[in-house]
Amino acid sequence: MIGKVYLVGAGPGDPELLTLKAVRALEQADVVLYDSLVDERVLVHASWNARRVLVGKRGGCKSPPQDFIERLMIQEALAGRTVVRLKGGDPYVFGRGGEERRHLLAQGIEVEVIPGITAGLAAPARAGIPVTDRDCSRGVALVTGHAAEGTPEPDWTALARSGLTLVIYMGVARCANICEALMRGGLSQATSAAIVQSAWQDGERMHATTLRRLPADVARLGFGSPSILVIGEVARYAQIPGRKVAVACAPAAGTTTASF
Ligand code: SAH
Repeated sequence: MIGKVYLVGAGPGDPELLTLKAVRALEQADVVLYDSLVDERVLVHASWNARRVLVGKRGGCKSPPQDFIERLMIQEALAGRTVVRLKGGDPYVFGRGGEERRHLLAQGIEVEVIPGITAGLAAPARAGIPVTDRDCSRGVALVTGHAAEGTPEPDWTALARSGLTLVIYMGVARCANICEALMRGGLSQATSAAIVQSAWQDGERMHATTLRRLPADVARLGFGSPSILVIGEVARYAQIPGRKVAVACAPAAGTTTASF
């Protein structure tokens, strides 16, 4: 009998943000393939004799290419094993879950997708930022700051004019270009902005500032990957846990940084 593949979202880090369905899938797995973004503490739910395979960048090693990962999944499933492919956040949000599912289905392999809490929602939440708010944001756009080679950039001008909260994944390296493009597109330089690094993981930290200051602040404070950028008036609610008053982000009020 052919095995089944579960494409499972592991959430942003904290193992308590795993869904019960994800835990059940892990308990059944013969093989667990997990990304480097996945917190290894979630692996306690897998059986002691399940094979655990790290398939992502860590410690400077080159990550196995996507087709190697897919071949491994296909091989294990065709051999009758239950495979859990654990991905950081949600499998369908910048997680290549769509293409993996299509390739597995093409091989006649049953696939079940278990959603996870995506970093773009979990990171702002951790920093006290509501991504929508009746007063200042009627919606939110999840955008990549790092378009795949050969694919067009997001339309920053359209996004600047959209009035949506912009939640940007993989945007740290290109933060200056992105902020510049948004300001050129008409977004006020005084718009509130925040960065949250390693949300719900060890070493998490955040910084709230304005769109104009964000790139210099990010560089000066040494923010790196994985981080989420939040651009929009809701970022003014960024709050340092333990403090009662939300941080004001008007340029005059200055900026604030916190490690949680
Ligand atoms: N599928 C994942 C996203 C993978 S793309 C999800 O739904 O969350 C990788 C990017 O996600 C990182 O570059 C970073 O922008 C973001 N990211 C993932 N985990 C994060 C975390 N714990 N804190 C902040 N950003 C995170």
